[in-house]
Amino acid sequence: MKDSTLKTRRTKQREIILDILRSTNLHPTADWIYEKVRQKMPNISLGTVYRNLKILRDMGELIELDCGGAFSRFDANIRPHYHFTCQICGKIIDIEEPVHHEIEEAIAHKTGFEIAYYCMGFFGKCGRCKEAPAA
Ligand code: ZN
Ligand code: MN
Repeated sequence: MKDSTLKTRRTKQREIILDILRSTNLHPTADWIYEKVRQKMPNISLGTVYRNLKILRDMGELIELDCGGAFSRFDANIRPHYHFTCQICGKIIDIEEPVHHEIEEAIAHKTGFEIAYYCMGFFGKCGRCKEAPAA
């Protein structure tokens, strides 16, 4: 296979992955994304989807949410923002409060470390679960 063909195919894969991620606000896992991509590219492997997610993250096209959960979640909303996780239904909701970068600066200054990002999560009950009677 010619090099340019390979390159085009990879770009197409990334385009599909990004389209899928941009069409949802679920903050899905790689597995969820893989299932959707497979409907359009039946021969694609989970490994390829995973690798492309990492490349897209490094390109700044998406955010990988790694807040200590079992699985990374992915987000096409690349504006810096916080997340609220409902402890009842598991939904992850965007919090569009201004992100406080002075925290990273303060820690970097104090420790001399190079801080890539910090993770501040909010947890509780979403609007719907708050209203629902306890099962
Ligand atoms: Zn909920
Ligand atoms: Mn988000």
